[in-house]
Amino acid sequence: MTTSSEITTRTAIVTGAARGIGAGVAKRLAEDGLAVAVLDLDEAACKAVVDEIDAAGGRALAVGVDVADEEGVQTAVERVAAELGDPTVLVNNAGILRDNLLFKMSVSDWDAVMAVHLRGSFLLTRAVQGYMTKAGFGRIINLSSTSALGNRGQANYAAAKAGIQGFTKTLAFELGKFGVTANAIAPGFIETEMTKATADRLGVPFDEFKAFVVKDIPVARGGLPADIAHAASFFASEGAGFVSGQVLYVAGGPKA
Ligand code: NAP
Repeated sequence: MTTSSEITTRTAIVTGAARGIGAGVAKRLAEDGLAVAVLDLDEAACKAVVDEIDAAGGRALAVGVDVADEEGVQTAVERVAAELGDPTVLVNNAGILRDNLLFKMSVSDWDAVMAVHLRGSFLLTRAVQGYMTKAGFGRIINLSSTSALGNRGQANYAAAKAGIQGFTKTLAFELGKFGVTANAIAPGFIETEMTKATADRLGVPFDEFKAFVVKDIPVARGGLPADIAHAASFFASEGAGFVSGQVLYVAGGPKA
């Protein structure tokens, strides 16, 4: 017999979830009652997030995988289904920066960014969609960025993040009739290792870098992973089934 808790327990996959926004999203979805697969390059690095979820009474699984590796992704998704349950919520969050002005940008800087953001989101989504269509329910949440609108030194990243928006809207068209929604979150400045690395690269202390960015943010503060997790929680929720193909800018104001 199926109990009501079995009916409502969903399994989510969050990529790049060992730290930063991904870790925040994984913990929030676990609080919302979902079992959560914490995917990142290094399985051991996922342990702290998994332990935190477990300690709070949730269920989580650490999985090491490179999202750009076709076979690895397939194996990882099958492992999640076997050990945690069929995944019907997917958050494509793994990301990297390889910033440089166009004339100094190498082909490997371009390819690396496309591989993680675009190829990675494609591979995960393709591997997971069968579980979603079978269940007649799915929630795909892709991490875009305000940089999708263009940002100096980020030709590769801006192109990938704009590409993610087109990818998301297409998923919404193709998968809607199976109960699957696809939406993108486009964060502005969020305090994570990624923005700390940008400050390092520019040779500016993080606090100074943050103050410089925050002076143009209407809500007058930097974003935190929890801000993005809150938006992801909404898109992942059962009640958000009529919201699809949207890009939500979570940037502390109306402009990127
Ligand atoms: P982060 O702190 O750098 O975390 C990214 C995570 O992704 C890291 O744990 C990283 O692992 C993992 N990762 C990188 N390449 C991977 C791969 N090939 N396979 C699996 N995992 C991989 O970044 P974040 O700031 O939390 O950003 C999360 C997402 O939000 C990204 O898509 C980013 O572009 C987007 N975003 C961030 C901001 C912001 O201000 N922070 C703004 C807009 C959009 P390693 O540590 O092992 O590399």
